[in-house]
Amino acid sequence: MLDTLRRIVQDISSARDPSEACNLIVAEVKAALHTDVCSVYLSDYPHGEIVLMATDGLRPSAVGKVRLKFGQGLTGLAASRAEPINVEDAPAHSAFRYIAATGESPFHGYIGVPMIHRRRVLGVLVAQQREQSKYDTDTESFLVTLAAQLAGCINQAEIRQALERLSDDTILVPLFLEGVASAPGLGLGEAVVVFPSTALAQVPDKDIEDPEAEAINFRQAVTLELAELQRLSERMRLLLSAGDRALLDAYALLLGSDSLVNGTLERIYAGNWAPGALRATVLEYADIFTEMDDPYLKERSADILDLGQRLLNRLQLEKAVNRQYPKNTILMGEEVSVSQLLDVPPENLKGVVSVRGTGTSHVALLARGLAVPAVFGVSNLPPGRLNGREVAVDGYTMRACIQPSLALRQEYLKLIAQEAEQSRGLQHLRELPAVTIDGHQLKMHANSGLFADIAAARNSGVEGVGLYRSELHFFLRDRFPGEEEQAIIYTRVLRIMEPYPVVLRTLDVGGDKPLPYFPISEQNPFLGWRGIRISLDQPDLFKAQLRAMLRAGSDYSNLSILFPMISSVGELDDALDLLRCAHSELLEDGIPVKMPRVGIMIEVPSAAYQIDTLIRRVDFASIGTNDLTQYLLAVDRNNDRVAKLYDPLHPAVLAVIRHVVDRAKAAGRPVGICGEMAGDPTSALLLLAMGVDSLSMNLGSVLKIKWMIRSITYTAARELLAKVMAFENATAIRESASAFLDQHGLSGLLRVGK
Ligand code: PEP
Ligand code: MG
Repeated sequence: MLDTLRRIVQDISSARDPSEACNLIVAEVKAALHTDVCSVYLSDYPHGEIVLMATDGLRPSAVGKVRLKFGQGLTGLAASRAEPINVEDAPAHSAFRYIAATGESPFHGYIGVPMIHRRRVLGVLVAQQREQSKYDTDTESFLVTLAAQLAGCINQAEIRQALERLSDDTILVPLFLEGVASAPGLGLGEAVVVFPSTALAQVPDKDIEDPEAEAINFRQAVTLELAELQRLSERMRLLLSAGDRALLDAYALLLGSDSLVNGTLERIYAGNWAPGALRATVLEYADIFTEMDDPYLKERSADILDLGQRLLNRLQLEKAVNRQYPKNTILMGEEVSVSQLLDVPPENLKGVVSVRGTGTSHVALLARGLAVPAVFGVSNLPPGRLNGREVAVDGYTMRACIQPSLALRQEYLKLIAQEAEQSRGLQHLRELPAVTIDGHQLKMHANSGLFADIAAARNSGVEGVGLYRSELHFFLRDRFPGEEEQAIIYTRVLRIMEPYPVVLRTLDVGGDKPLPYFPISEQNPFLGWRGIRISLDQPDLFKAQLRAMLRAGSDYSNLSILFPMISSVGELDDALDLLRCAHSELLEDGIPVKMPRVGIMIEVPSAAYQIDTLIRRVDFASIGTNDLTQYLLAVDRNNDRVAKLYDPLHPAVLAVIRHVVDRAKAAGRPVGICGEMAGDPTSALLLLAMGVDSLSMNLGSVLKIKWMIRSITYTAARELLAKVMAFENATAIRESASAFLDQHGLSGLLRVGK
């Protein structure tokens, strides 16, 4: 059964349009079930009907003509109830509706199974038989399993068909693709589709015209990889044992050996492109080792494959490096990565559209930091077909519009201009404090992590950097930056922001932020080796970073250090020990460093509940609501399937934040927010009412939040908070807070998406 299921799904998934998909389904399912009839009905939502799209067994002339209202007949009932209907004698059932055009009178046994995609019934899969009996439970389970998967295929086929229509220049119907989350803003430009690096075994063969040029490329990749391996081995001296490092030397030896390189070159000169030639050679070579009896030599085949993959990445990387981005680039892909985003010159980047990812994924944060609109979780996006097309990204409605019509295009351009105007209209707030009408003031800080936005932060009216994501610099390199290199970066940041405070967060990689040169393979990365856990396990790396931060702070008085992902008191104590150790070592070396202010991120539930104990050990707390929400609600912040469940206004999240704020204040320590909630007007309103001392957000939100704060009273905000804290769900809380903003003349802020 499983094989049949897989085969059917595979066949259907390549259908060009829904009609082809339906025809394939009826033929294959009828054959698999050995039944008399199989039909597919698809939903026509605007008319509240389902339509017969294909049949094998009923009269073909009925296709496209038979329409049933939801709830009408057995099939309509399966659609409206969204559950299977399995009956022994259809004509005898009270819901049965006889349709002469189909010629269905000889059939008695009936089963109708709805095909549901993301809560929508896309259609019904029906089987009928002459025999007067119910379909057995195995068949029912088979159809239910199949229908669940077919729904996704049909959805894809609908999109493919719409795209096909777009390719016809005479039809100008734009295609809208819906996402589940976004970074606010509007952008219009040309799609540049990026792909993840291909698996070596899947590289196809391709004929080439100029083997000499291809050979030069390949030789260059080998030389660069050899140098890289030597560098890696050198760098790993502190991190890896001599035994582990020997592997890198073995790779270098393999690369230096004739067979791998010459084998590939021979294939290139025979007319295959470098990636194909490399794949063939590496697989042939790896096979020889796999066949060997000696377990040690057998193991070497994995090394050869790994080395092959590295060379392939390098060949592809060289291509990526030389990539030219159009002036108005809309970056699109299955899963746009941080480094792919950083690869585009910021002035060229006008939008991002990604199949996977959500509003709090790090790519989204980066997009917001750069004020680039983005839409994530566009599960219908077929990126391969979109390169070069015009795309509008609407981060407010979480939609991307492929090939907008002329009128729509004008409308987008108008809105983009209006948006720029609104932000100019708020400029007068830049130098004014974030203070409510009745005199309650709090600090506005910026989230940063790049030079591009730190310079902008200086002139944006914020009173400091509340979160400097130090890892972003680590992404811009192909190796860990050394102490010296880091010290230069941090010094520059402190100097630019002086006298305002800067909170440098120590490395927070892992989770959804794997460094390309430090791969971590885990089943549950968000529950795995990330943040402070890596830093504590790699004290050399951690201390190099702490030393660099301390050295930067020696000439300035605005340094704070923040530890991410603390989940226990022991971790904080260990981190503090290493900080003290780095501090005293530097003093011993004659470098006059000062002990900075130290803070802890509260983003893991255990830390929130141990706040009393933790806060005593540090100078301040910063609540990371992005992770706190994901860990409290057990919702992966990057998984678009569950993105609707990810809601920072969930009463449980608000209750925990309030607890942390109250306890930190009771201990006399300042507490701020540095997650995305701080930049969302509705959430910021409630956070203000809780009495937080600072809000740290991306620059694009600063003036809007300041406008909100300056338009309300603290008393009214606290009354609102007292009311909504008793609510049972996020929707009611959001509605109430939005209504409050509306009453205060702030409805303009509510366009900003999640
Ligand atoms: C957070 O988790 O809220 C946070 C600010 O950290 P990051 O988004 O970088 O994980
Ligand atoms: Mg975090």
